[in-house]
Amino acid sequence: MERFDAIWITKEDDAKRQNPAEVKAITLDDLMPGDVTVEVTHTTVNYKDGLAVTGKGPVVRRFPMIPGIDFAGRVVASDTDAYSVGDEVILNGWGVGETHMGAYARYARVKGDWLIHRPGALTAERAMAIGTAGYTAMLCVLALENAGLTPTSGPVLVTGASGGVGSVAVSILAKLGYHVIASTGRPAEESYLKGLGAAEILDRNELSGSVRPLGRERWAGAVDAVGSITLANVLGQTAYGGAVAACGLAQGGDLPGFVHPFILRGVKLLGVDSVMVPKDRRVAAYDRLVSDMPMDKLDAVATRIGFDDLIGAAGDILDGKVRGRLVCTY
Ligand code: NDP
Repeated sequence: MERFDAIWITKEDDAKRQNPAEVKAITLDDLMPGDVTVEVTHTTVNYKDGLAVTGKGPVVRRFPMIPGIDFAGRVVASDTDAYSVGDEVILNGWGVGETHMGAYARYARVKGDWLIHRPGALTAERAMAIGTAGYTAMLCVLALENAGLTPTSGPVLVTGASGGVGSVAVSILAKLGYHVIASTGRPAEESYLKGLGAAEILDRNELSGSVRPLGRERWAGAVDAVGSITLANVLGQTAYGGAVAACGLAQGGDLPGFVHPFILRGVKLLGVDSVMVPKDRRVAAYDRLVSDMPMDKLDAVATRIGFDDLIGAAGDILDGKVRGRLVCTY
């Protein structure tokens, strides 16, 4: 039987921490049950992958595990009528790389219900340049739109702007005609962010100071990938009737703020999850990505890496050293 390399994570039964991730040659028999087997051609590294590979967050909840929450690839075997051999597919989330063997291997075997057909307008490489981070950015934009935000409402803030969610969110919002304020801790990325369409750069330290119940109304909406003090400050400076889509916790999972923005300004806090989103909303999000994510900007946010770089990149993303998105080609 064919052997292929996988990133393999183990943990002793009574150990607190998982063992360091290693590369192991495995066979299809090592994968978990599923009705579709996919030859993975491309994957990526999200913040959550960083937590999974390094063990710095409790992402992996079944051992042994192959991490990797996103892949693009080609169906090589299928027991469901929904997919045929040769179909080009994408997977984002559904616990893959957490509780079900994931993307960091040549092959993945998953439930057909978790897959979507890759839109013809997206190459596999671009689908992974989007990945969970980019698709989550689109879900945030859709949440803001559903809350009534339009480009005439006022400026929109994006936090963690140089990261994966942030870079894609800046690009989409700028394309849609919003005045985008990009908050970053990396002043050196000003020209990168302006190239994606940001109109203004905000030093992220301005959002990391002590939290006040309310501040000056500075933006009509926000995409927040950072959480913690930053999110509390973002809420306090959101204009009357505005909305904040919260999807991340790069600064922390706490929310040390006040209810004043909600009860005095009617600000809406919109929670955004990408992992368990039903299929029809995923397809709708990808349709919007195809129309509203400028492909030249997508190429500009993507850096190519190889399989051998994945473990190092997992540490780098947690250290804030990754700009935009990483695309791994097998
Ligand atoms: P990245 O690491 O690519 O980006 C995160 C960015 O946050 C960094 O680039 C940095 O931006 C900023 N940042 C990092 N640390 C801090 C800090 N201590 N204080 C303030 N800002 C900080 O990660 P992703 O974009 O892939 O993911 C962002 C977040 O969204 C993560 O927490 C991730 O888990 C979450 N997420 C949630 C999803 C969901 O389903 N809800 C799906 C996808 C992601 P800069 O250098 O510009 O300041």
